[in-house]
Amino acid sequence: MATDVKDIILNRDKSQNETLLEVKNLKTYYPVKAGLLRRTIAEVKAVDNISFEIKKGETLGLVGESGCGKSTAGRTILRLLEPTNGKIIFDGKDITNVTGVSLRKLRKDFQMVFQDPFASLNPTMMVGHLVSEPIKNYFKKSEKELESEVLELLKKVGLPEDAYYKYPHEFSGGQRQRVGIARALALRPKLIIADEPVSALDVSVQSQVLNLLKELQADFNLTFLFIAHDLSVVKHMSDRIGVMYLGGLVEIADKSSTYTEPLHPYTKALISAIPEPDPRKKKQRIILKGDVPSPINPPKGCSFHPRCPFAMEECSKVKPELKEVKSGHRVACHLYK
Ligand code: SF4
Repeated sequence: MATDVKDIILNRDKSQNETLLEVKNLKTYYPVKAGLLRRTIAEVKAVDNISFEIKKGETLGLVGESGCGKSTAGRTILRLLEPTNGKIIFDGKDITNVTGVSLRKLRKDFQMVFQDPFASLNPTMMVGHLVSEPIKNYFKKSEKELESEVLELLKKVGLPEDAYYKYPHEFSGGQRQRVGIARALALRPKLIIADEPVSALDVSVQSQVLNLLKELQADFNLTFLFIAHDLSVVKHMSDRIGVMYLGGLVEIADKSSTYTEPLHPYTKALISAIPEPDPRKKKQRIILKGDVPSPINPPKGCSFHPRCPFAMEECSKVKPELKEVKSGHRVACHLYK
C-alpha cells in the first residue's frame, strides 16, 4: 500500500515535469492589402518569433499592453489562426500543420475561455444545451447521461441546477463566465487558454472567478495559458510569467523573479504601474515616453528602444535575443548579455 502511494506521488511529480506545450519561433503575420487588385503592401507582425514552453499542470501568464500580440499568440496556438512560421508542439506532437479530422480530434484537448462570455455564448440556447453541445459533438451519450454530466459540471463551476434551463441573458457577467468555463471543461481538456477571462467583470467578482479557475485546475489537472493585461491578476494565477511587447517576448521568468527582480526595462515599467495597496509605502512609477510603435513597421534593433530610458547606440541597430541570464529567467535586452 505504502509503495502504491509512493508510486502515485512519483508519477504525479514526473508528469508535472513533462512539457505539455512547446512554442518554437512562432510567427503570425497578417497581410495589409491595398489598391484595386488588393495587393499585399505590408505585413502586420502580430506575433514575431516567440518561443516558450508550459509544463503539465502549470500556469504561464502572458502579459503586455493591448495590441502586443498576446491574444493572437493564444489563438494561433489553438490553431484558430494560421501560423506564418514556427512550430507548435502539443503533448509531444507537432500540431503546426495539422488539419481536418486530425485537428478536430485535437480540439478536444485544448479549449479557450473568452473575455466576453456573452459574445461567446449563443443567446438562443439554454445553458444545459450550451454545455452539452461540445460533448455531443465528440461522444455518443444518452440524454440522461448528458444531463447528469452537465449538472455535475454546473455544480463544479458553482452554478445552481436550475441554471440548466436558463438562457445566457438571465445571468450576471460572473455567472455567464462560469457557464463559459463549464463549456470549456465539458471535454476534459488538457490545456485551457484563458484570454482576459475576468477583464470584462466587476472587480468584486473577478477574484471569485480567478479562485474558481485555480480550484478547477487542481480538480481537472489542467494546464493554463493565462492571457491578461493586468499584472495583479496574472500574479494571482501564474507560476511563470512571459512579458510581450510589440509581438515579441521580452522576458520570461518564474512569478517571484518577475515581480521582485524584473530585468527588462519594459517589465520594470509594467510592475511599477501596479497600485500599492499599502498607502504608507511609497512607490516610484516609471512613465514610458511615447506610444507603442506600429507592428507594420516595428523599429529596427530592439523594438522597445524608442521608449527605453536606457537605450544605447547598439539598441537601435541590433535586435537582442531572448537569452537565459539566470536559471529559468530569460530576457531580451543588450544590458544583460
Ligand atoms: Fe532598452 Fe536597449 Fe535593453 Fe532594448 S536592448 S530594452 S533599448 S537597453
